[in-house]
Amino acid sequence: MKRMLIAAAAALTLATAPTKAQDYPTRPVTMIVPFAAGGPTDIIARLVAESMSKTLGQQVIIENVAGAGGTTGSTRAAQAAPDGYTILMGHMGTHGAAPGLYKNLKYNPSTDFTPIGLAAGTPIVIVTKKAFPADDTKGFVSYVKANNDKITQAHAGVGSVSFTTCMLLTHQLGVKATAVAYTGTGPALNDLVGGQVDYMCDQLPSVIAQVRAGTVKAISIALPERSPALPNLATTKESGLPEFQVSAWNAVFAPKNLPEPIKAKLADSLSKALDDDKVKARLLDLGAVIPQGKERGPDALAALVKSEVDRWGPILKSVQQ
Ligand code: ASP
Repeated sequence: MKRMLIAAAAALTLATAPTKAQDYPTRPVTMIVPFAAGGPTDIIARLVAESMSKTLGQQVIIENVAGAGGTTGSTRAAQAAPDGYTILMGHMGTHGAAPGLYKNLKYNPSTDFTPIGLAAGTPIVIVTKKAFPADDTKGFVSYVKANNDKITQAHAGVGSVSFTTCMLLTHQLGVKATAVAYTGTGPALNDLVGGQVDYMCDQLPSVIAQVRAGTVKAISIALPERSPALPNLATTKESGLPEFQVSAWNAVFAPKNLPEPIKAKLADSLSKALDDDKVKARLLDLGAVIPQGKERGPDALAALVKSEVDRWGPILKSVQQ
């Protein structure tokens, strides 16, 4: 009887004991995308998650938690249990610009997360509706200046990449477009295609298909060099707007205090996803920039977040004055 009791107690302990970090993952992992489906962060998340699922041996499921320029989903991720079952695809907005735009941000991008790794660099493109009465940077700038009072600009909420980068652009041009907020640039792009809004600043991976199809117009790319994915598109530098130089990034985060073995497994599966031929080819075709070597992994991402928060703070302060 005593032996039976001991055996039963042992079985109970086994059943209720938290699984060891070494066994991770034993069930599906949720990756929060803090924007609506169909936008750049969602596209990149779904691409890497599919490959990470294979390496981890468990599904990485995307959950879109949109709101407040990505800060709602990022807050949810920051407050989740640090067990590796809730991770986040954050980006330059949620983990770089947001502290400069939200006084009461409920997380600190540097201290409330365990960085896992950079997933992709994403160039910024100025895109307009098809019927926009200009085709190049010079024409765009003069039209926006002349129609300051009636022009509309779409974005994915205060603190998002689209919001932040276009805020910089309108500041540099000295104009005040009417900003229209969406839960992500996926739905914003639908309205751009439909002609309901005039322009936006978005990350290349989400607009490239529509640009290639000719349903929206790309004006210029805010990089010093042209993108191999869209070689005919002029840079802002070569087309009369050299001061508008900006690019974004998307990266995987977990809540702070994530056990080391789980962090290592997630970082390894992300890195393997970036080396997966299928993922690589798709990311490059979408115009994303794949991090290499030292740009990968938790330490590089921790340094990037710090430098981005330090960089965007003063920029946003001067833009908001
Ligand atoms: N990440 C995008 C932005 O900040 C929005 C999106 O992914 O839908 O503009």
